[in-house]
Amino acid sequence: MIRGQEVWCQLFSEPAAGSDVAGLRTRCHRDGDDWVVNGQKVWTSGAHYSDYGILVARHDSSLPKHKGLTFFFIDMKSPGIDIKPIKQINGGSNFNEVFFTNVRVPDSQRLGAIGEGWQVAIATLMNERLAVGDAPPPDFREVMKLAASCLLDGRPALEDSAVREKIADWYVESMGMKHTKARTLTALSQGKIPGPENSIGKVISASKLQNVSSFGADLMDMGGVVTDPSLMPASALFQQSYLYSPGLRIAGGTDEILRNIIAERVLGLPGEIRVDRDVPYSDIPTG
Ligand SMILES: Cc1cc2nc3c(=O)[nH]c(=O)nc-3n(C[C@H](O)[C@H](O)[C@H](O)COP(=O)(O)OP(=O)(O)OC[C@H]3O[C@@H](n4cnc5c(N)ncnc54)[C@H](O)[C@@H]3O)c2cc1C
Repeated sequence: MIRGQEVWCQLFSEPAAGSDVAGLRTRCHRDGDDWVVNGQKVWTSGAHYSDYGILVARHDSSLPKHKGLTFFFIDMKSPGIDIKPIKQINGGSNFNEVFFTNVRVPDSQRLGAIGEGWQVAIATLMNERLAVGDAPPPDFREVMKLAASCLLDGRPALEDSAVREKIADWYVESMGMKHTKARTLTALSQGKIPGPENSIGKVISASKLQNVSSFGADLMDMGGVVTDPSLMPASALFQQSYLYSPGLRIAGGTDEILRNIIAERVLGLPGEIRVDRDVPYSDIPTG
């Protein structure tokens, strides 16, 4: 996996469990040396070309929702796995619905103790937020290049003070992100795990990507709606990103959820009311 010879996917989200991933319904039960998995995941990026997946499933519905979960890795070619790609607004199909019907997983592929699935999932999500905190281009550099070639009121847009102010704001955000990330990498190099403060990076970078993309498309005037790479500046990167970037504000934890995490676990503000936290999962009413 580290050499990049295998592709892995993350099977967490379900139709009724995204932000509230601990409410997931995919179940597993022990059968000899194996576990048997039944249920459905959704939004699984790359499942259609993955060799393996990491999966959280519920082994005990009589326990509170966070306590009845167990974590596995599975071979995505196992019998009983059915993968259906989802069509996206930009024309791509990067994520999928994944269905499990009596899929057998050896107990040797369990990660962590039985019932510790939530802890393993949280460690995974902290790392994911660190990784996706680095949004892909375009950023202030690409806007500068574009603004130098686009005209605004008959002059290069880069000479416009409002355009320059926006670019300066994105530069400041990018530098803040770079140095915040450097602090995290230092902590990682000292054997610590990424903490809740990593949520800051994704909240900032996903919104920035959306703003930068929208701004770049606007600078192209009517051309902002043309998505053909052969016709547009920067190979229509701004247009593609305009369609893709809203998804980044949802993937790996929505803006609202990450703000909750920052408020509660970084700033120490009072926690959200969670009435179902200590109730046996099987007693929680479902629609
Ligand atoms: C591009 C992309 C790739 C993804 N890849 C994967 C993947 O590989 N594997 C995987 O498992 N999942 C993946 N996901 C799914 C993603 O993790 C979920 O979409 C996300 O966690 C939100 O869950 P949901 O879609 O069910 O929305 P919901 O949880 O139903 O949220 C709906 C809205 O309600 C808000 N909301 C919910 N709860 C609260 C609350 N407590 N306080 C305030 N607001 C709240 C949310 O912020 C959101 O605006 C991907 C999603 C995207 C967009």
